[in-house]
Amino acid sequence: MESSSYNPFHVAQSQFDRVAEVLDLDQGVRELLRQPMREYQFTIPVRMDDGTIRVFKGFRIQHNDARGPAKGGIRFHPMETVDTVRALSMWMTWKCSVVDIPLGGGKGGVICDPHHLSLREQEQICRGWIRQIAKNVGPISDVPAPDVMTNGQHMLWMLDEFETIHGGRYPGFITGKPVGMGGSLGRTEATGFGVIYTLREALKVLGIDVAATTASVQGFGNVAQYAVQLYTQLGGSVVAISCWDQADKTSYTFRKKGGVSLAELRGIADKFGGIDKARARDLGYEVLAGGAWLEQEVDILIPAALENQINRDTVGKIAKSVKVIAEGANGPTTPEADDVIKQRGIFVLPDFLTNAGGVTCSYFEQVQCNTNYFWEKDEVLSKLDTRMTSAFAAVEDLARSRKLYMRDAAYMIAINRVAEAVRLRGWA
Ligand code: NAD
Repeated sequence: MESSSYNPFHVAQSQFDRVAEVLDLDQGVRELLRQPMREYQFTIPVRMDDGTIRVFKGFRIQHNDARGPAKGGIRFHPMETVDTVRALSMWMTWKCSVVDIPLGGGKGGVICDPHHLSLREQEQICRGWIRQIAKNVGPISDVPAPDVMTNGQHMLWMLDEFETIHGGRYPGFITGKPVGMGGSLGRTEATGFGVIYTLREALKVLGIDVAATTASVQGFGNVAQYAVQLYTQLGGSVVAISCWDQADKTSYTFRKKGGVSLAELRGIADKFGGIDKARARDLGYEVLAGGAWLEQEVDILIPAALENQINRDTVGKIAKSVKVIAEGANGPTTPEADDVIKQRGIFVLPDFLTNAGGVTCSYFEQVQCNTNYFWEKDEVLSKLDTRMTSAFAAVEDLARSRKLYMRDAAYMIAINRVAEAVRLRGWA
């Protein structure tokens, strides 16, 4: 996940340091918040289908739990690194704080590539991950969820292993579970829809009619697909989508005159969000280089794949027409790129605010599990909309009144709340 010169944890720390300086945070609070409180690294031995044993590396990092149990997803990725997990756990703390839910920040992962693992092997990784960390996670301490290349089935295997170890039913231990097994309706849509709720509000503030806009999207996974769905329902047109091609080990951008069709692309995508090139060409799509999504003459860019995509080398390729960047992915923009974006006056919807719909719905899932009463989908999505809209309004209000960059305003609100919790608890 990280190129030799890019370290996401250094990015997360430098973003934090800048805001800590502006907020004039005490030295002790700064030192506590700029690093994770707890880090676990472990091995997961798995007997593979061919009878051999392979040992996978697993992580769980709890950045901060002053405002509530640590919360954050588990990624399966061949290039996962401890610094990626550290950065993501820190971003989770700010994310839960900016939308004001009573949870802290955590993140986990396993270095593995599910493309090359059978379902049985994936199940063994999930169960092995839990066996190694079962004492250090739980509904009142650390609540995992799905992330890149993990899903509800992985979460249910993990829950089952956790409940077997602890003897009992703890549906609030993990979120993103399948509906009917403690999962919340609306969780699948939540992150992508949340991106568009905030985008809708931003366009209102900017006086732009969403139905007159075009967008280009990086990614065609969970976040991107639901963002595209709601954005097009509101009348916007997506002209290009980029995704990873597993066979070629590279990415491509799919562009269609008049806008892409979500239904068409869903019909030729695999479960990892990769799109079949040959079938796309048959449907009239141009297949361009992976980076082309960023160079499109559109109003809105939605990075919804990976971190470090808008960086020193790529930021100059953003077209003059772009007015808004709605960050669906975690950490898609580096601080160097931020400087350029700021100068150009592009309105940025920062990742930890914009993609907080997933964790907000996870919080709703916990609430439903704890009361053993499950809400209708409309109720979930309407509560989500309310929460995202008010979080956006608070950040935009601060940004406007203090003439701040949106990312800095979001950080100020989020960090202040966590710093206050740390002080009230007497930790620093
Ligand atoms: P996913 O695994 O469902 O989809 C990832 C997509 O990115 C796939 O379409 C893949 O082809 C594409 N991709 C991977 N590498 C690429 C590359 N180099 N160029 C172009 N496309 C590439 O993942 P997701 O759940 O949609 O998550 C996407 C991002 O959003 C991640 O940064 C994740 O941390 C973040 N996020 C996800 C959630 C959630 O609820 N799923 C919540 C908050 C943030």
